[in-house]
Amino acid sequence: MESLQNALQKLRVAAGRFMLGRNGMDQLNYALLWGYLIVCLARALALALTRSALVGWAFDILTYIVLVVMAFRILSRNLPKRQAENLRWLDWWGRTKRITDGAIKRHRDKEHKYYTCKQCGTVCRVPTGKGNIIITCPKCGAKIQAKT
Ligand SMILES: [Zn+2]
Repeated sequence: MESLQNALQKLRVAAGRFMLGRNGMDQLNYALLWGYLIVCLARALALALTRSALVGWAFDILTYIVLVVMAFRILSRNLPKRQAENLRWLDWWGRTKRITDGAIKRHRDKEHKYYTCKQCGTVCRVPTGKGNIIITCPKCGAKIQAKT
């Protein structure tokens, strides 16, 4: 038992030394892992629907690309570049999530209508059932014609 524990300990130390100075798993790599799983599912679905070997190959290539990119990013020693990629990904994901959440909230809200100002992009909320009104943008003062 003692020797097995020793061997495991040595393995852990060796793995730690191997990963020293390398990027390892970051949020972008977890996203790639999810992407890989989704592509695998899509592949099974597409194969079941089309029964085409070509479709299977296409998905195989896609899964390999995702895995290779992930392995490259895990083992990479170019930390500034990998961290910059990760930040870009987090930024994009945060923005996409905010936009999607906002759209879902607006879709569920039946008591208000939402208008986006063409000049500055501010979203203006007005109550429904007021007929044709003109909204003044609170940020830039532009007039928006609205049907509520
Ligand atoms: Zn505006």
